[in-house]
Amino acid sequence: MDTNGHNGSNGASAQRNGSSEKYEVQEHDVLVIGAGGAGLRAAVEASEAGLSVGVVSKSLLGKAHTVMAEGGMAAAVGNVDPEDSWKTHFMDTMKSGKFINNWRMAELHAKESPDRVYELEQWGALFQRTPEGKISQRPFGAHTYRRLCHVGDRTGLELIRTMQEKTLATDAKVYMETTVTRLFKKDGKVVGALAYTRESGKFIYIKAKAVVMATGGWGRIFEVTSNSWEGTGDGVVLSYDAGADLVDMEMMQFHPTGMVWPPGVAGLLVTEGVRGEGGILKNSKGERYMARYDEQRMELSSRDVVARANYTEVQEGRGSPHGGVYLDITHLGYDGIMKKLPTMHEQFLKLADIDISKEPMEVFPTVHYTMGGVKVEPENCASTVPGLFAAGEVAGGLHGANRLGGNSLSDLLVFGRRAGIGAIEYVNEGSHSLEVEGSEIEREIERVLKPIETGETGESPYLIQQELQKAMMDHANIMRTEEDLKEGLGKILALKDRLENIRVQGSRLFNPGWHAAQDVRYLVQISEIILRTALERRECRGAQWRLDHPDMDEELGHVNFIVSKDGQGEVGIESREIAPMPEHLSGLFKEEAKV
Ligand SMILES: Cc1cc2nc3c(=O)[nH]c(=O)nc-3n(C[C@H](O)[C@H](O)[C@H](O)COP(=O)(O)OP(=O)(O)OC[C@H]3O[C@@H](n4cnc5c(N)ncnc54)[C@H](O)[C@@H]3O)c2cc1C
Repeated sequence: MDTNGHNGSNGASAQRNGSSEKYEVQEHDVLVIGAGGAGLRAAVEASEAGLSVGVVSKSLLGKAHTVMAEGGMAAAVGNVDPEDSWKTHFMDTMKSGKFINNWRMAELHAKESPDRVYELEQWGALFQRTPEGKISQRPFGAHTYRRLCHVGDRTGLELIRTMQEKTLATDAKVYMETTVTRLFKKDGKVVGALAYTRESGKFIYIKAKAVVMATGGWGRIFEVTSNSWEGTGDGVVLSYDAGADLVDMEMMQFHPTGMVWPPGVAGLLVTEGVRGEGGILKNSKGERYMARYDEQRMELSSRDVVARANYTEVQEGRGSPHGGVYLDITHLGYDGIMKKLPTMHEQFLKLADIDISKEPMEVFPTVHYTMGGVKVEPENCASTVPGLFAAGEVAGGLHGANRLGGNSLSDLLVFGRRAGIGAIEYVNEGSHSLEVEGSEIEREIERVLKPIETGETGESPYLIQQELQKAMMDHANIMRTEEDLKEGLGKILALKDRLENIRVQGSRLFNPGWHAAQDVRYLVQISEIILRTALERRECRGAQWRLDHPDMDEELGHVNFIVSKDGQGEVGIESREIAPMPEHLSGLFKEEAKV
């Protein structure tokens, strides 16, 4: 593998044909945008098939969101509970997603996750072990069996380390700290992307026969989130702008347990692994209140249920001094915690001066994950635009209305691989004419440079971002009403009008303000889409908690909301009937009902 500035050998050599003073030109068979678990898995697949692959990443290699994953990777390998099977994993995923998931994706995911875990192990990942030496599995919310393969609470780090090394062994070329701003099309097909390097502001136009979008989620549209600075949802807007359909964008996951104190770290994740290892939730009266919300599964209920419970306890005046609830893992003792949850111990000790082996944590829901995203074909992750594929958190469908913990890491590998295969087949299928008008590229460069090159003063991107995050917290939070959502939409549309006037001081060199000016465009567009789709889904289902429509609606249980850019460039929304589940899958639920 090569990183910035070095051409690869073999099939990976990038050509500098057509470079101009304004931008450099590179060319690959497959361009992967995003170097998290999904992007790297797709890149390995395509590169090992002998294709020339480019991987673009906004941050340094190894720094994607995936590295932050803690609790584990869900796969029915049945090491700890031999009764587990892909069928139970499939049913758990569908039930948790409240049956608006793409059932074929859920089937493929459940069937293929074990292979992806073993493959990762063969590639060098060191999982925690059972006494018999098998990969250890821990319980997690709403998984019937102990299913999460893990490495303490640093599973994402191990996944990304392994995938990074695997990628290094291929001929793929990595463009680090390089941000894509737009996809280009020819004859209706995606044929390239414009990017700029964050350090120098140099533009690169990358021609590609196929593009795999793997840019992760968009938690940064909220003030309080577990997501890092990278979670601005660039890929979902780049895809939408290129004409791709999106699915169920109203479905944002509020993780039940984020830190609440001190304020500077509010939203930082407290892994579900804590509850998986027996952590108990209590309110200020000392009540183990989950009995009121899900008597059977208690703290290991699904995330939507636990998040609502935590929120309700605080709303009804039974919260902790800093506005959270208590999560107690002291029963594990210092040694147990250091073995199973060392990161959590360090996180609370360093940031909140709390030793979790002696005291409970204070926690509250935090925006965590995006179930909606680019609509893809389950088999090959093709979007509705030829030449564009999507995998990982940026893609929608698998998780329906609520994601099960641990199902993202296995999603990345199952569908990252499938997106790679989809891109390979597409590249090999036909001829590809990649030339686009230079003037089109130059127009995009002008647009990107506008905030720093007009020389006037104007709106600060940071201020717009702050106002947006506050509006989303106030109006599209865990609990929603029509009135609130409409008020939020009004605020976001007003911010949209102000985007044109964003101005930033300084040059292209090392200019975070300029990067923020790019990001905020995505944040505004996604927020508008979320508010509009949340208004359309007039019911409570999974993560969508509508106070004014407090029940699940039978009819809405059969539809996905599909978003696409309409002829006027506005957000078009269609409610689309979900194809009925085939008998071999629906029969599983009927069998279960009989027992
Ligand atoms: C704190 C935390 C803990 C979690 N724990 C778990 C867990 O235990 N189990 C589990 O299953 N899931 C967990 N998740 C969820 C899971 O980690 C993520 O859903 C997953 O890692 C997303 O992977 P991805 O490959 O889709 O994207 P990411 O890992 O987010 O990678 C996105 C990539 O896209 C790049 N990018 C973005 N925009 C651009 C652009 N415009 N141009 C170029 N590059 C761009 C980024 O630089 C990055 O390289 C956790 C999430 C968080 C935040």
